[in-house]
Amino acid sequence: MGVSIGFVPTMGALHQGHISLLETAKKNCSLVVCSIFVNPTQFNDKADFDNYPVTIESDIDKLERAGCDVLFLPTVTEMYPQGETVNGKYNLGYLETVLEGKYRPGHFQGVCQVVHRLLNIIPANNLYLGQKDYQQCMVIKKMMQLTKINTNVIICPTLREDDGLAMSSRNMRLNETERKKSAAIFEALSFIKKNIVPGDINPLKKQVFLRLAENGFKPDYVEIASADNLSIIDEWDGKIKLVALIAAFNGKVRLIDNLLLQ
Ligand code: AMP
Repeated sequence: MGVSIGFVPTMGALHQGHISLLETAKKNCSLVVCSIFVNPTQFNDKADFDNYPVTIESDIDKLERAGCDVLFLPTVTEMYPQGETVNGKYNLGYLETVLEGKYRPGHFQGVCQVVHRLLNIIPANNLYLGQKDYQQCMVIKKMMQLTKINTNVIICPTLREDDGLAMSSRNMRLNETERKKSAAIFEALSFIKKNIVPGDINPLKKQVFLRLAENGFKPDYVEIASADNLSIIDEWDGKIKLVALIAAFNGKVRLIDNLLLQ
């Protein structure tokens, strides 16, 4: 039997969510590769890039303890020897115009560019991604179709803190008050899950949006979409599978989260 390679791409500042991907990869593959690369081409906001947390020593420590076989830690020039411009060549269609695509122009082109490049370097059998970045999972699957890369995409569940906040490297940037407040995002998603009924679901979206705004968040969106293709649903027939998605600023930190509703 040959070697099977499981690959977990990350931007570092590792937390248990990342490690859970690695643990799943270890169960299924004989060799596990993790990459840490804060990819400049996927940041549409320079301040977000400049402030992205870097904790490489503790990352290495966590990877060693989790039994990661290989850490790929490239420099920007190694990844982009021809310069770090986004080529915008992936035809992502609708996925690039909604939700994160709408609020972070160019972001998904950068994501595709980096994952494509990484998969050209690392001949992975399986690629492990987190459901935390729901739209990103869909975009990467689409990129794999477009580029005919033959790697399985495995989507792993979102790991949360005790109060429900989805683990994220950006949580490190929250101050104590903001951190306490942040559980409201998962509460909002859970509220949608509990209260959704067939029919016009716009009032529910609006109610949750307003409640977050009243609590001091600056929401970009509170949306309910088809879990299969992310088309926005306004009138629910009670049958199609749904996902609720939220992006909101808590102070200067933009948080995203989502929850499957069935
Ligand atoms: P990032 O370092 O934020 O680019 O994330 C690297 C990978 O870890 C992506 O596939 C993310 O979706 C995944 N990830 C991030 N946060 C979580 C989480 N809380 N639970 C599970 N996976 C996560």
